[in-house]
Amino acid sequence: MQERLQELKADALKQVEEANEVKALQDVKVQYLGKKGPITEVLKGMGKLPKEERPVIGQLANDVREEIATAIETKKQKLENEALEKQLEEETIDVTLPGRPAPTGGPHLLTNLIEEIEDLFIGMGFEVAEGPEVEADYYNFEALNLPKGHPARDMQDSFYITEEILMRTHTSPVQARTMEKHEGKGPVKIICPGKVYRRDTDDATHSHQFTQIEGLLVDKHVRMSDLKGVLNAFAKQMFGEEREIRLRPSFFPFTEPSVEMDISCKMCGGEGCSVCKGTGWIEILGAGMVHPNVLEMAGYDPKEYTGFAFGMGPERIAMLKYGIDDIRHFYTNDVRFLNQFHKA
Ligand SMILES: [Zn+2]
Repeated sequence: MQERLQELKADALKQVEEANEVKALQDVKVQYLGKKGPITEVLKGMGKLPKEERPVIGQLANDVREEIATAIETKKQKLENEALEKQLEEETIDVTLPGRPAPTGGPHLLTNLIEEIEDLFIGMGFEVAEGPEVEADYYNFEALNLPKGHPARDMQDSFYITEEILMRTHTSPVQARTMEKHEGKGPVKIICPGKVYRRDTDDATHSHQFTQIEGLLVDKHVRMSDLKGVLNAFAKQMFGEEREIRLRPSFFPFTEPSVEMDISCKMCGGEGCSVCKGTGWIEILGAGMVHPNVLEMAGYDPKEYTGFAFGMGPERIAMLKYGIDDIRHFYTNDVRFLNQFHKA
């Protein structure tokens, strides 16, 4: 019986030794020390032993049981410590690694482009002027030589708040307001960037909301050649030194004479391609000499003062500059699109 106990002890310790996870140790414990285990069986059979052997076997059985239990507990501690160490090792933070950059937002590409255009004109002595987006019919139309019923109003149908209040259809009312503030005296040299609104159906080239930048220069002795010089400087700085400009006659109610400005096509260098529709030129903006009626309504004497004005769409310029094919991209706020123009 002593041999049987020693055998059980050896087997149990061997299994403890071989166990490499806590679960296996639990199994060994149940198998050897459980109520139906072999040691319990031995103790149950003690009744058949001679009286003098009983205490010896009893003692031995208890010692074996104790030894196995201690071995299991020790091994369990060891496995748990190992697991913890392994975990700590795997989760070590290497403080010398560079940090992961946190994603940051940035200005919209139109905001960046508008600021670029502003800087360019500020460099030529212009000031930035702003005005309300909810505007009076008077400043949006009438003060710009567009009285009620004028057919050119149809091209700029707007969102009306009341009969007399509307969402401005262009940034020109800022020109009218600024001139009015000067009370007919002294030079005005401003550019007016901002959002404008029209009752257009959205498609690849139309949006009910878009941006404009207009410029106005009013002074004594301002001539058409001054306008051409300023626009030429703008085109070359914006699109490249090698760009040529040309002015074509056009019509706007608030300027006389009026022109459209084209720049030579960057893609083909003037030869004609799909971008310039075979003409070698790309339309950039509208301009002209301020109509005498507009000067007069703002309090300037058209016999003494003359001026020029121009207006362009930053969306159109961005589309040409970056090869963007749909105006809706600017306003749907898809970060996959916007990220391409994100300057960190
Ligand atoms: Zn071309």
